[in-house]
Amino acid sequence: MTTLEKIISCMDGYDPNALPVERAREVIRSFLAPVSANERVAVRAALGRVLGEDIVSTMNVPAHDNSAMDGWAVRFADLGPSGPTRLSIAGSAFAGHGFSGKINAGECVRVMTGAVMPEGADTVVIQEDVRVEGGAAIIPPGQERGQNRRLAGEDLAAGHVVLKAGQPVRPAELGLLASLGIGEVAVRRRLRVAFFSTGDELASIGQPLAAGQVYDSNRYTLFGMLSRLGVEVLDMGVVRDDPASLEAALRTAAASADAIITSGGVSVGEADFTREILAKLGEVVFWKIAMRPGRPMAFGRVAQDGHAAHFFGLPGNPVAVMVTFYGFVRDALLALAGRTDDFALPVFRVPSETALRKKPGRTEFQRALLARDAQGEWRVRITGQQGSGVLRSMSEANCFIVLEHERGDVKAGDLVPVQPFEGLV
Ligand code: AMP
Ligand code: MG
Repeated sequence: MTTLEKIISCMDGYDPNALPVERAREVIRSFLAPVSANERVAVRAALGRVLGEDIVSTMNVPAHDNSAMDGWAVRFADLGPSGPTRLSIAGSAFAGHGFSGKINAGECVRVMTGAVMPEGADTVVIQEDVRVEGGAAIIPPGQERGQNRRLAGEDLAAGHVVLKAGQPVRPAELGLLASLGIGEVAVRRRLRVAFFSTGDELASIGQPLAAGQVYDSNRYTLFGMLSRLGVEVLDMGVVRDDPASLEAALRTAAASADAIITSGGVSVGEADFTREILAKLGEVVFWKIAMRPGRPMAFGRVAQDGHAAHFFGLPGNPVAVMVTFYGFVRDALLALAGRTDDFALPVFRVPSETALRKKPGRTEFQRALLARDAQGEWRVRITGQQGSGVLRSMSEANCFIVLEHERGDVKAGDLVPVQPFEGLV
């Protein structure tokens, strides 16, 4: 098993106290040990799961050449190059009911969309272009050989890998599996993610708020983000800021989960005892990431009873939890769940409606709303107060403006990188 120490020692300019976002991602990526166990499920139950095997097509889909349109199946060789051609009607073919004979020279067959191409025919002329005159069809000139015909195997060719292990099963894949007649597939077992909040100031919903307390909201945002990722969640509640409780919670989580996410307890004032306990249970590094919000973060692996779990210690601030989740944890969990396709959230450049202040030397994730202006052009604007405790800035947002590490102030109208998170996670 690779150790974090080994990964970090191979990196140039690694500074845990001013770690660029990309560097932190690199360390995380190199340290992950994805789930490899499979289970077999019925096709419908595979929706949202990660495919555990390559799917090789056992047949051509479609199985036969067939008509793509309602019209007339003809032999292209029969058609006159400049004038109309008169072909006698030999019969008809419907989807599911073919034409049993063979088309001879000078003949055509009425075909409906999906009907198997009659033997001998290679081209379909759409019905709108054809006139029927006493048992014959009049085909105008200007047709192309092979037009309006779907070839056998053009969707899926027999013997080819049509889906790869590691890709997500979406609605299209369900349909594709069904089109091959496959009723059951192997998928990776679901990733189990345990999470809890730390803090003596936290009250859980249903309890009255004592002076100085706040309701624990992080477990709810985490629940939401994790549920959308399709992982199995294990909500472990609130853990007090005392070493024994924290250690017990971490041991329980490490014994049963593939990943553990905590919020709070990694900031400078609180990291000391957290650090000690984590060092006892495994290997965890503490970072100050060159980003805003969400600077402090811990990452590593902890073990209990021979079972190891990846550990993500997120900051306590509600916005910082979400930003670090989208920025680091989401991709890590998808990789752990066995995804091997490119699942990075897309980033594209959109003009900023307003000027933005930005200090070079850190990546900023500003909460923003991507929307159309009066002219129908897409613009982005930040959502109100950007303090890392102001969860409303997330609630009003549908994307981050991700201001790059080196970037300085932004002028109104400048293009800024935008990363939508709504509907994608
Ligand atoms: P910490 O990182 O533990 O120092 O927490 C930073 C800030 O986030 C403090 O103001 C905490 O009260 C707040 N906070 C920590 N955990 C939570 C939580 N689970 N829900 C809401 N606020 C929290
Ligand atoms: Mg705390």
